[in-house]
Amino acid sequence: MRATVMYAAHDVRVETVPDARIAEPTDALVRVTRACICGSDLWPYNSMPPSTMGNRMGHEFIGVVESIGADVRTLRKGDLVVAPFAWSDGTCEFCQQGLQTSCLHGGWWGGTTLDGGQGEAVRVPQADGTLVALPVGPEHELMPSLLTLSDVMGTGHHAALRANVRPGKIAAVVGDGAVGLCGVIAARRLGAEQIIVLGRHADRIALARRFGATDVVSERGDAAIERVRELTGGLGAHSVLECVGHGESMRTAVSIARAGGAVGRVGVPQETTIPKAQSTFYANITVGGGPAPVRAYMHELMPDVLEGRIEPGLVFDRTTNIDGVPDGYRAMNDREAIKVMIEF
Ligand SMILES: [Zn+2]
Repeated sequence: MRATVMYAAHDVRVETVPDARIAEPTDALVRVTRACICGSDLWPYNSMPPSTMGNRMGHEFIGVVESIGADVRTLRKGDLVVAPFAWSDGTCEFCQQGLQTSCLHGGWWGGTTLDGGQGEAVRVPQADGTLVALPVGPEHELMPSLLTLSDVMGTGHHAALRANVRPGKIAAVVGDGAVGLCGVIAARRLGAEQIIVLGRHADRIALARRFGATDVVSERGDAAIERVRELTGGLGAHSVLECVGHGESMRTAVSIARAGGAVGRVGVPQETTIPKAQSTFYANITVGGGPAPVRAYMHELMPDVLEGRIEPGLVFDRTTNIDGVPDGYRAMNDREAIKVMIEF
């Protein structure tokens, strides 16, 4: 089968690899029908040290169950399924709490030991706990939005929950990538009255407004902080969704939260410390977040997608086949594309 392999920064190849196959009785074999490239894939795309083995890539996918192991109970051959960006058993202490990204028997797609979503097929460990069946066919018009349940929509929702978004309150979203845009959807869905998006790309800002952003701050650094203060009566936002992960974006996020407010961070941190420890302490600001347990949110968000209340699939502004994946990485890295979908 063919799959995407990253060998070093800016070195992404589509290669023939060993066919995915069932190895454990709890596995399912999924033939991928749709996948996508994630903003978090751009971190290794810009920094991965050269590797002779290469890393299999992709953690967001929808596909058809081709076969199941002897112990799989909830899925059948032919089911169309969506995979969360981490796999999990669904039964351990943390899965039962709805924190599947900390599953005691789970893990991450790709790398050197497991298939990734940016390939023709995937061996899915812990299939019962991991996969969620979709009630539509693989060519359904809502497929792009359903694919976002793999990661970005669930991740935006997680940022909103961790930022404690409440009806009638002010939310600010740092970052206008696909996760930030889904954070806008999530903040609106949870009832925020004023939604300030911090970003500077015209196409993304237009989408943020369509998703419910009421104010746009395109300044950076101290000027951005000042502008948010002006828009919030000098007090700052009740809820801040940090959807980038840079030291600078995190500094902005904690600086625009009001006293007693919360920052929900879902951008993978590129720094080892959280900035402004003292001022956040004295203002009683909560800093929370982490990898979103999107598996826990799929059943909650899916009806909103299927019934048309939210349309996160609009974040995809480019579609390619598997041969176009390396150029898809380049296009997202060059900010030519917000998010690239792969059709198989
Ligand atoms: Zn678990």
